Amino acid sequence: MSKILGIIGGGQLGMMIAEAAKKMPEQVTKIIVLDPTKNCPAAQVGAEQIIADFKDKNAIEELASKSDIITYEIESGDSDVLKSVEKDAEINPSPETLRIIQDKFLQKSFLKENNIPVPEFIEISSFGDLEEGLKKFGFPALLKARRDAYDGRGNFKIDSPEQTRTGFDYFKGQKLMLEKFVPFKMEVSVIAARNTKGEIKTFPLVENIHEDNILRETIAPARISDEVAKKAEEIASITMDVLKGAGVFGIEMFVTRDNQILINEIAPRVHNSGHHTLQSSETSQFEQHLRAILGLDLGSTKLVNHTIMYNVLGSKTFEGEYKPITLSEPNIFLKMYGKSISKPLRKLGHFNLVAENDETIEQLLEKLELLKNKVVTQPVN
Ligand code: ATP
Ligand code: MG
Repeated sequence: MSKILGIIGGGQLGMMIAEAAKKMPEQVTKIIVLDPTKNCPAAQVGAEQIIADFKDKNAIEELASKSDIITYEIESGDSDVLKSVEKDAEINPSPETLRIIQDKFLQKSFLKENNIPVPEFIEISSFGDLEEGLKKFGFPALLKARRDAYDGRGNFKIDSPEQTRTGFDYFKGQKLMLEKFVPFKMEVSVIAARNTKGEIKTFPLVENIHEDNILRETIAPARISDEVAKKAEEIASITMDVLKGAGVFGIEMFVTRDNQILINEIAPRVHNSGHHTLQSSETSQFEQHLRAILGLDLGSTKLVNHTIMYNVLGSKTFEGEYKPITLSEPNIFLKMYGKSISKPLRKLGHFNLVAENDETIEQLLEKLELLKNKVVTQPVN
């Protein structure tokens, strides 16, 4: 039976979910997104839009009344409001799963209770707690906002005792947690899916390179031993099993110098580090997400070609309209998100650089170096 799909958030993730849904007309007849920005990326690919804040209760109720099934591309939704509209629309991942994940402290506590490895952490409710915690963990340590963080903006690295007060005051009364610093050798992630029937599949482990706290490139597969990759994928599977929610989740992890895997954080949604699947894999993460929430069998997660994903970010030096970005080389798949205004480090698009024949990751990385300056945003005048 074909369904009307509601998506909370119509940015690039909502846009790519909508594009995948359009290829499944037998399952999805119509897509409605809720997003505050007029003509958001998802609306530009044909989704109907309700223009309102993501947390607007009336707007969420309207979306639920018009949809058969609701999903989201952001994790900051109000899980109580979502719970209250479950009578009108099926919500996947479930509001309960969202509630646990959207609070980093609850999320890590939940993982720890389920014997899933995470960095050491404690809750911080006062300046005294922070001083105690720093004594325990030493320096540096990461002070993190428990909720609504993205692109590293909710983190403060405390390097020395003198920074304790500055770090604490930086968050102006937000709920906080402190985490021991992990001197990782690599950041990796697993895109994992669980469908409404409980079937679980993981995409192969990928390697993530961050700059200025923002994901810059993803290398698929990660340059690490099969043994470590297998361990990470197993941890991701177990995590999906205990979390129960249906959908695609992005599970970010650290690989320590002695090859331990620690989960850094989970996003209950499709993830930037899964964009390579649009070209590299038999099923894209967006199609997989739809399969998962609609209760279809999950698609194959086989990686067909080595691929590097590179994010096109707004130049740090200007804000405003930018000249069109194009790339016409073979085996390069550029996807711009239709955002008319560039802002420093704003995610404006990405491209996938796909290996031909038996090209190695090292060769792809060399090619990438030559392409980077072609996607630097320039002001229109
Ligand atoms: P995003 O939404 O971009 O994933 P975020 O704001 O939710 O970011 P985190 O994922 O918690 O933030 O952290 C951002 C980055 O900071 C991580 O990718 C990692 O590089 C670094 N980081 C976070 N926690 C730790 C830690 N305990 N030890 C070392 N580095 C850390
Ligand atoms: Mg993160």
